[in-house]
Amino acid sequence: MPRLLLFDIDGTLLDTGGAGGASLLDAAEEIFGVARHELPPLDLAGATDGGVLRRLFGQVGHAYEAAAITAYLSCYLGHLHRRLHDELFIGETLPGIGSLLTMLESAGGADIGLLTGNVRRGAEMKLARFDLGSRFVDGAFGDDAEDRNLLGPVAMQRMTAATGRSYTVADVIVIGDTPKDISCAHAIGARCLAVGTGHFQADALRIHQPWQCLESLAETERVCELLLS
Ligand SMILES: [Mg+2]
Repeated sequence: MPRLLLFDIDGTLLDTGGAGGASLLDAAEEIFGVARHELPPLDLAGATDGGVLRRLFGQVGHAYEAAAITAYLSCYLGHLHRRLHDELFIGETLPGIGSLLTMLESAGGADIGLLTGNVRRGAEMKLARFDLGSRFVDGAFGDDAEDRNLLGPVAMQRMTAATGRSYTVADVIVIGDTPKDISCAHAIGARCLAVGTGHFQADALRIHQPWQCLESLAETERVCELLLS
């Protein structure tokens, strides 16, 4: 049975240097006509885009309805594209990511997918900015559910549809940087490799009892061994 590795994006694979959050606020200003400083801080760590939007709509007293959500997301994605390609963009991939993905691919034995709160198009844009898009077969996204705990089964089904291989939860490892990544792995009985490269230090993640917890994914060989053994 192949291993199924499901990677989170923000804080795990890459850091957009604030471009993601700023773009969500650009859209709030444009769609709702509010100034970003009037809004409470966004709580983005481990959140799904849908969850963030529902909270934002509530804060400005706007009905959370399909047409408005579509308009908001379209506005957000426009700003995201602009910010990701701005000359002042300061995002980066996190330490070890490129070599880890290469090592996993050449080792074989694992199918590599995504489990992210980003809507699919946003995820694609962020990964494409760093030429990482082709590294992932498919996965579950913020469009699939507002509750991250519901994304594990979606990711497993999509990966099965794409690879033709079936997986049990014992084959699945979720790799993520927040307590919400750990709980979405636990929600399906899967393991989580937590990594302290996002908003949480490794010590703060250990409290949530991930299967493994590392300061970063920089020690490529050690991480590869953990994920494939
Ligand atoms: Mg994250």
